[in-house]
Amino acid sequence: MVNLNYCIYHLHSYYSLLDSCTNPEDYIKKASECGMKAICFTEHGNEFNFFEKKQLCDKYGLKYLHGIECYITESLDEKVKDNWHTILIAKNQQGFVEINRLFFLSYQKDHFYYKPRITVDEFLAISDNVIKISACIQSPLWQFRKSILADEVKNLDRMKKYIQMCKHYDYYEIQYHSFPDNLEYTKFLWELSKRYNKSLIVGTDTHSLDKYKAECRTILQYGKTDNAWGDPENECDLTFKTYDELVEKFREQNVLPMDIVLEAIENTNVMADSCDVLTFDTHDKYPYLYGDKDEEVMWDTIKRNYKQKRDAGIISNDMTYVDQIKEEMTVFKKVNMVGFMLFMSEMMTWARDNHIATGFSRGSVSGSMVAYITNITDVDPIKWRTIFSRFCNEHRVDVGDIDTDWYEDDRPKVYDYIINRFGTEKTAYILALGTMADKSAIAVICKALRNINKDSPYTLEKMEYIKAEYDDDPEGTKTKYPEVFYYFEGLKDCVVSQSQHPAGIIASPVNLIDFCGMFLGSDGQQILPLDMDMCHDIGLVKYDILGLKTIGVIDKTCKMIGKYFPKSYEIDFTDQAVYDDMAQNPATVFQFESSYAADCFKQMHCRSIDDISLVNAALRPGGASYRDRLFRHEVNDNGSELINELLKNSYGFLCFQEDISAFLQKICGFSGSDADSVRRNIAHKDPEKIAKALPQILEGYCSKSDKPREIAEQEAKKFLKVIEDSSSYMFNYNHALGYSLLSYLCGYYRHYYPVEYCTAYLSCAKNDDDLFNGQQLARDLNIKFENVKFRHADWDYSCDSSKRVIYKGLREVPRMSLSACDALRSLYFTEFDSFNDLLKAMAEVKVNVSQMENLIKLNYFEEFGDINYLLEYLKLYKKFQNRKKRYELIAENMVNVPKGLTSVYDMIQYSYDVCGMVTVVYSSIADNYYFVSDIKGTKYTLYQISTGKNVQLRIRAKLTKQTPINVTDIISVYAKDIKPEGKWHQNTEGKWVQSTDTFEDVVQKYQVLKKS
Ligand SMILES: [Zn+2]
Ligand SMILES: [Zn+2]
Repeated sequence: MVNLNYCIYHLHSYYSLLDSCTNPEDYIKKASECGMKAICFTEHGNEFNFFEKKQLCDKYGLKYLHGIECYITESLDEKVKDNWHTILIAKNQQGFVEINRLFFLSYQKDHFYYKPRITVDEFLAISDNVIKISACIQSPLWQFRKSILADEVKNLDRMKKYIQMCKHYDYYEIQYHSFPDNLEYTKFLWELSKRYNKSLIVGTDTHSLDKYKAECRTILQYGKTDNAWGDPENECDLTFKTYDELVEKFREQNVLPMDIVLEAIENTNVMADSCDVLTFDTHDKYPYLYGDKDEEVMWDTIKRNYKQKRDAGIISNDMTYVDQIKEEMTVFKKVNMVGFMLFMSEMMTWARDNHIATGFSRGSVSGSMVAYITNITDVDPIKWRTIFSRFCNEHRVDVGDIDTDWYEDDRPKVYDYIINRFGTEKTAYILALGTMADKSAIAVICKALRNINKDSPYTLEKMEYIKAEYDDDPEGTKTKYPEVFYYFEGLKDCVVSQSQHPAGIIASPVNLIDFCGMFLGSDGQQILPLDMDMCHDIGLVKYDILGLKTIGVIDKTCKMIGKYFPKSYEIDFTDQAVYDDMAQNPATVFQFESSYAADCFKQMHCRSIDDISLVNAALRPGGASYRDRLFRHEVNDNGSELINELLKNSYGFLCFQEDISAFLQKICGFSGSDADSVRRNIAHKDPEKIAKALPQILEGYCSKSDKPREIAEQEAKKFLKVIEDSSSYMFNYNHALGYSLLSYLCGYYRHYYPVEYCTAYLSCAKNDDDLFNGQQLARDLNIKFENVKFRHADWDYSCDSSKRVIYKGLREVPRMSLSACDALRSLYFTEFDSFNDLLKAMAEVKVNVSQMENLIKLNYFEEFGDINYLLEYLKLYKKFQNRKKRYELIAENMVNVPKGLTSVYDMIQYSYDVCGMVTVVYSSIADNYYFVSDIKGTKYTLYQISTGKNVQLRIRAKLTKQTPINVTDIISVYAKDIKPEGKWHQNTEGKWVQSTDTFEDVVQKYQVLKKS
């Protein structure tokens, strides 16, 4: 008997965002188990990660068909939300390109309307390289027809278009669903197929692997929208069907004769057989900039820059430079990376020439001499002893990449440079897909249960509670709420949203629209339908343009002192005054901003860049074994002079991956590439390959050692054991070095230009912690921190270094605009006899009343009087708005208004009114005075008025019942009244117990000083 089967081609995975929670692999695995030969996914309007599906098809031995369920609109003239469904499947390679182009077209601004769409005319122009199938009941064959039938006057043009569409489809899709409209539609399609001599084909419109996944899908849809969708019981069965189940479904439907159905099922196989096997070029797609001349141009670039650096005395005449360049170029040529290095050189030279600040180096590229000479990095591998093979070697299989660091605001310029250099068709951003995390799954399920049943016990509060419990005890919580967690596994990790990868951009030598498709993001930016892993797998080269706050801090400091971001040779990296300063107070120093890192940094008391790199390695978990001894600057004896000498810059400790390469290269005589391969094998704990390399290691070591063979071999073996034990979590020296130089820069500028550095740091602050740290540093350095002040405040933070004062920028004031800021600054050098005169002047330069009010409340006009006094002025200013003698009237009415009546409490309240949070600090106020900024249950967020720091404390309901506290009250809490207590939680039996390992601060006593 022939084993009957069909090809499932109308299929949705979780890439049809929120319309499925089944992953592609589950379908492909199932299809392969059923003995299917081919499979086609047709996601709603997208091609997301199609290459993953192709790879999975190869893995399970299925033929991959490339398809999409696209949306069609009648016309673009008037935006109508018709959005009919149609299936397109690539018949061959050209068809694949054609679908990609349609996909891109459907996202263009004039096409997109709720969904990416193509027009009826564009559909009619699709070639024979694409198979066109009519899809579900949302098909134009049914919906367009209904719309025409509803026309009051017969519209011949529409009818003609409709008939053309009928004729243009290759297959009419019938589905087994038994709701009345579909029964009618199925009958209609059979008639239509006879009329136009078209084949019927069976589509399943599968959305879920099985019944469980279908239930989870329902929950997903109810949980992700605010309105209930209808009755979940009435939904169609969209689960995966075996051949027999499919036949049975049509038998139940009982609309068409079974021989017609069976033929339509067989047509899925006919359709699949008619498609070519698609192939994808996965070679590394490094750029070609000058055709076959890239190498020549690269050599010219190297020679020119080498000469320039040598003549300027930046590098020495030492032939080692030349030798290393030659060796590296041989490797780059072998791995086809010359064009890539050339492009990176052009880009980084452009940036450095135009003073767009960028780091010295990030990642392993610090080891490359070519990168240094051609301005890709600013790290001299000879001076800093970085290792090339860590970056690139001839055995490498992965696409090489070079990540770069920039100030956030400069990143768009760099992207623009790349896009202009390659052209828009060869550059695109990378897709990022959001998946459902554990706790968002809990939230979605609870919400869905509420939407399905309004009396559900899973209220918002209950949901928050379950989430908190899940944090403490995941397994216990799962058994406690079986109704919720029934859906959990089915929804967890399901793809639910799309966005753009935050840092990466792809640039390639091929047209990316044709190669893999492209779509447009919400800002019109071009994005590939492939995520980062898929881009990697298909051989696309990614450029990571990363934002790094420290770059901005250094750059802004330099600009304030009239300089540019420094070149590494311009800085003295051995200045002990700088090291002493950093050791005493590592605050705001790059990489050592967390309290743990800062503490390690202090303990080590660094004296050199090497020391900074070492702390960085040591503070990681891998450094636990040597951390304490290193911090005491103790020297480790490895029982071998050769190894002690090798590790002399790290006090004899093995801290960096590159030390292994150096051991293999310099002592055992391996080539750079071989050394890196052995290092990787050790890191991946591959005993077979390590054993294979062992004789050469021993041979090399013994020949270098002047000890007897037996002893030398023991030494080498002992060290190999140390390597094997620590290799998997060792630090990357090349990377650490580049970053240590940046850490030093922070210390350097902070030491010599403290006011400018602090100002720059505050300007670049990314969050409250940064702001707090910047202000704290200002206090530590005896720099006065002023809120916005008339005659001083700029748009951004600004400073007066001779007076050691930093002024907050107007940017931070709500309702302020750049033009209002400029207007105010135009008045900074004018003398005013009274606030009245200033009001008049401000009216002339167009500062509006709400801006004035906010500025007054923030004490910006302090020199003219206190806040309450100036607010009186403003009241009159508004009152007499349309009066001729406005300013005379104001002056008359102000005569009897007293000055100086604004209390600190009032000023805090005003600051809160304007900014939605307190932004003023009064260091003279007692440390135990707090402003209540937020209350969540018994959890209080309190703003410490003397420091500007927010603290989280718990206050028992029992206490607040007696003495109520509201948001914006000012209270005093005594330090001795704050006690750490074990957190309360419900155990598996539902009993309340107090934790013995997690604590929180609980207030025992407080006083309300000021009610809001
Ligand atoms: Zn559909
Ligand atoms: Zn569909």
